[in-house]
Amino acid sequence: MEHFDVVIVGGAAVGSAAAYFLMAEPEFDGKLLVLEQDFGYRHCATTLSVASIRHQFSLPENIRMSIFGSAFVAQAGERLAVDGVAPDLGFREGGYLFLADDAGMETLRANHRMQLEVGANVLLMDVHQLRQRFAWLHTDDLSGGALGVSGEGWLDPYSLLMALRRKATSLGATYRQARVIGLRCSDRRVQSVELVDGTRIGCGTLINAAGTGAPALARWAGIELPVQARKRCVFHVTSPALTPGSPLIVDPSGVYIRPEGTGWLCGVALPEDDDPPSEDFEVQHELFEQVLWPVLAARIEGFDALRVKRAWAGHYDVSLLDHNMIVGVHPDMHNLLFANGFSGHGLQHAPAVGRALAELVLCGGFRTLDLSRLGWARVLDNAPLRETNVV
Ligand SMILES: Cc1cc2nc3c(=O)[nH]c(=O)nc-3n(C[C@H](O)[C@H](O)[C@H](O)COP(=O)(O)OP(=O)(O)OC[C@H]3O[C@@H](n4cnc5c(N)ncnc54)[C@H](O)[C@@H]3O)c2cc1C
Repeated sequence: MEHFDVVIVGGAAVGSAAAYFLMAEPEFDGKLLVLEQDFGYRHCATTLSVASIRHQFSLPENIRMSIFGSAFVAQAGERLAVDGVAPDLGFREGGYLFLADDAGMETLRANHRMQLEVGANVLLMDVHQLRQRFAWLHTDDLSGGALGVSGEGWLDPYSLLMALRRKATSLGATYRQARVIGLRCSDRRVQSVELVDGTRIGCGTLINAAGTGAPALARWAGIELPVQARKRCVFHVTSPALTPGSPLIVDPSGVYIRPEGTGWLCGVALPEDDDPPSEDFEVQHELFEQVLWPVLAARIEGFDALRVKRAWAGHYDVSLLDHNMIVGVHPDMHNLLFANGFSGHGLQHAPAVGRALAELVLCGGFRTLDLSRLGWARVLDNAPLRETNVV
């Protein structure tokens, strides 16, 4: 049986970031295999993502991971160059603008205090400042907003994924297109993974980076991972109206919109009680007519003329406990590392999580950013660590 020191299941953003950080570490001299069921990446969250980075979270760990994420993207040309060719991730530092009405102002202020404490560059604005800076925004029902002044923006997710993968491969990682269908475990360790063609591959450490496929992988090791797929639809829209200097705007209703080429991408964060588990890729077109259009037409000058050019559906891997990822080992399985349940913010956190996983493999603990509060202990103790700023 073939054997690798580290096997990663899932070769999209998180799996490839882990592969890159491990292979880039001079202390790591092992063999690393990434198993990815679809090299076309047609259904993974990474390529269907809106691919934006914000520092405006409520939890310090999330803010710190995103700050690292944007620094990593800014340095990607150097870090991820292969044979002198630097990747272009298409990063646009456009910022996020979270809008708040009366009811949301207190949370916005509390989050802002935390963001400043942790080192994010975010400006709290009153309605007058909003009007001055964004004349095309309707602000009558608003009390204020928070604007990310630096570091926040959006990029091309496929370019990030491929840059990580190419770099990891150039450093010696093996990528194989194969579907994992089972695990063999004994002595509280995963001994091998089983592929769909019946092949078995032995592993020293196994990393679960399988996105919405992660609960199945966990189950094969006898572990219940509280993560579920939830559908999110994205609409690419155009309008004759202009929104010069527009950041990614998050409306108090949960509707978001950001520039994309000559148009915009928009979607909505669904309320938890109206967000059933779903694994299909059917676009809910009625969402645009019934939810997005009314909000956007009322919020932005000239947006009553919005037209949908195309739309797609992808899936968040939602962490049911608290909308925060679960990272690290489970006490019952000593060589199985989890990095799952990103709940819609995993692309920006992929670099920080990839680095964290490399540290766990090499040192058995976190060395740079302490993510221990995001481990399994809180799940097993049923002690949620809530992220209040979910989009
Ligand atoms: C519509 C939408 C918008 C989003 N917007 C943002 C955003 O603006 N900012 C942000 O930070 N995040 C965003 N996200 C979330 C982000 O895309 C994800 O959190 C992140 O990409 C997760 O990466 P991943 O590698 O863990 O999972 P995925 O990208 O889902 O990759 C998992 C991989 O595992 C593979 N796999 C699964 N099971 C198996 C198996 N048994 N055998 C072999 N391979 C397997 C899959 O093929 C897949 O390629 C968005 C997501 C969606 C759907």
